[in-house]
Amino acid sequence: MIPVEEARDIILSHIDRLPKEKVVLDSVLGRYLAEDIVSNRDIPPWDNSAMDGYALHHGDIKSPKTRLRVVYDLPAGLSPQGSVESGEAVRIMTGAPIPPGLDAVVKREDTIESPDEVVVLKIPQRGENIRYKGEDIREGDVVLSRGDHIGPAQVGILASLQRLSVYCYQMPIVAILSTGDELIEIDEELSPGRMVTSNSYTLISLVRLSGGIPLYLGISKDNKEDLQGCLFAAKRADLILTSGGVSVGDYDIVKDVMSLEANHMEFWQVEMKPGKPLAFGDIQGIPTIGLPGNPVSSMISFYQFARPAILKMMGARNLLLPRVVARIKSPIRKKPDRRHYIRGVLEKDGPCFAVSPTGPQGSGILSSMSKANCLIVIPKDKGFISEGEMVECEVIQTSWE
Ligand code: AMP
Ligand code: MG
Repeated sequence: MIPVEEARDIILSHIDRLPKEKVVLDSVLGRYLAEDIVSNRDIPPWDNSAMDGYALHHGDIKSPKTRLRVVYDLPAGLSPQGSVESGEAVRIMTGAPIPPGLDAVVKREDTIESPDEVVVLKIPQRGENIRYKGEDIREGDVVLSRGDHIGPAQVGILASLQRLSVYCYQMPIVAILSTGDELIEIDEELSPGRMVTSNSYTLISLVRLSGGIPLYLGISKDNKEDLQGCLFAAKRADLILTSGGVSVGDYDIVKDVMSLEANHMEFWQVEMKPGKPLAFGDIQGIPTIGLPGNPVSSMISFYQFARPAILKMMGARNLLLPRVVARIKSPIRKKPDRRHYIRGVLEKDGPCFAVSPTGPQGSGILSSMSKANCLIVIPKDKGFISEGEMVECEVIQTSWE
């Protein structure tokens, strides 16, 4: 049995970042950049107005209530027309280019307007309400870097640079196979002793959410031949996830298959609860994480081991769940033997966070996972946590009240 961090390090040492591919802008959201993005232009491309108002020579306004002649209107999208003399102003809209020579914009609210004249009520600063050429991004700037996550703001920057496509790291194909003689598919009739393979669908969802492409291989019976046969279809996968069959039972054959000649098992069992029975190795040269069968164990082990592996393949820098510290609202007692991950509900508590366990923590109780937005991490050597203590929480859903 090895600690979580050691298990994760071993897994990650067997995982490589995938090659890059060209991706059209429409599909880059959630991906990781495989190139530095150097700006091919200044943004904004010219000095422009930040307000609807009057562009003027700031030196003309020596006192409030100065009167200027309005020489033309300049909506956004049009170009300035000729020079503007001292004593003159241009009625300008937000985003329109600043006419040459003018050096301040007074917003409409600070004027008294008439068709050909404006009375400026306030003395502006030089440069007031002007957005200068290149003040956001300068030509030649590295605006985004290799390994950056592409969110909506990054998509916006790429669009402003008119990048129709960019290089991203490939998304891993993640094969998912559930093992168990008792399992049926969602559209099969339930009979005594059988159960629906809910893990298959949880894992497909987790893979998608982590950025991978799920390749669902269905259900394997609890024998080596069937498991090997099913895994044959995983040939084109970058990572294999199996569910179940990694405990100490007679039918727990994932480890057996990992130990067959051409395959390899790196470790089995991690010092955590739930999720102790976890196996890692390779099958047909493909890294394989044997996740436990119990639905909660399977999910928590996915978050600790499979998610970081998928993210590393996709080129991410941050592989771990975000963490916050919170005040626990009820005491927790446990054996000081392994790290515990307790399903919890994080909520705002003044300027900080409070967290409450979701109730029954059995590793088959998936309903309590559905209520949780975090995993409360109780260290291995702790036997008791009292109410009000500060605990570390790994965030699995960024939604709270
Ligand atoms: P195992 O590790 O294979 O002994 O599985 C442990 C328990 O997890 C089983 O007794 C089932 O209750 C549950 N389980 C296993 N596989 C699945 C699955 N695919 N979907 C939902 N529950 C499962
Ligand atoms: Mg089983």
